[in-house]
Amino acid sequence: MAEKKNRYGLSRRIPNDVKRKVRKRCLFGCVHCGSVIYQYEHFNPEFKDAQFHDENGITLLCATVHDKKTRGRISRAKIAEWNESPWSQSNDCVWEKIDDVQQLNNDPGILLGSVGFRNVENVITLKGKPIIQFLPPEVTGGPYRLNAEFNNMDGNQIARVEENEWIGSIKNWDIQVEGRSCQINNDKRDIALAWEYMDLSDRLTIGITKLKMNYRGFVIHIQPGAFKIATPNGLTLSIQSAMIGNAHTGINMDDDFCQIAPDGLLSATEFTIHRSDRYGYTILNNISFNTPYDLWTHFGNSRTNLKFNYICFNSGLRINRSGN
Ligand SMILES: [Zn+2]
Repeated sequence: MAEKKNRYGLSRRIPNDVKRKVRKRCLFGCVHCGSVIYQYEHFNPEFKDAQFHDENGITLLCATVHDKKTRGRISRAKIAEWNESPWSQSNDCVWEKIDDVQQLNNDPGILLGSVGFRNVENVITLKGKPIIQFLPPEVTGGPYRLNAEFNNMDGNQIARVEENEWIGSIKNWDIQVEGRSCQINNDKRDIALAWEYMDLSDRLTIGITKLKMNYRGFVIHIQPGAFKIATPNGLTLSIQSAMIGNAHTGINMDDDFCQIAPDGLLSATEFTIHRSDRYGYTILNNISFNTPYDLWTHFGNSRTNLKFNYICFNSGLRINRSGN
């Protein structure tokens, strides 16, 4: 396909470094409303009159505002005014409505690196605080309500989700939204959070492909094909591949314990739970459960579907660091 060029031979494609400067100046959202679903718009001069991509003459506009401008229903002066004092500056955030087209009405799912969750209410709980959760619909047929918080490794919040509204901090070094994906960077090379919309089995699934987060000393590390949580006391849960479904509790960790789908269905191909000691990492073998069943063998070596409340009637999978 031929690239569209203007009469000066300037390509529509804005160089990445110019885009980043525009995002930074506009504080990562539509200058009128703060939405992260925006387009880059040449307003001074207009693209047809531009001889180069001047970062100061490009702004961020959401589809609604962009369309109105294209139709001549908003003046260039108004755009310039918004560009001078972007919405995010006075509101201290950018946002996106996740469920504006009723995507979360049934079986909400999330993929965290290598671990899939479907129909799980409290996806991850740390020290009693749900970090990612899908609350049930408030009314019959209504959407499940996603709530989540994401920190960087310094423990500062970089983004959160409140009742299906994604909210990003403008203090981030960069927030990039392209197509179905979103990425927050701590600096040029250091990705703090990357996530994308996935269409799995005809249902919306939110996929977190990268996360390096510290929540009160708990470190969550997610990357494609990997998932790890370490407690401040050195208990480490590492999952190579698993699916957790139909559970009230997905993964629940405190300083010295770890529960996985105690009331739901877990199918795992491989995962390990370690504790650190002075000689490095060793596999914990003090798993407590209520039936004479060699849970560890199944987890460690085989591909098995395990329904947890069958194996562990009361306490689910609970691993104590101390050995009792
Ligand atoms: Zn807007």
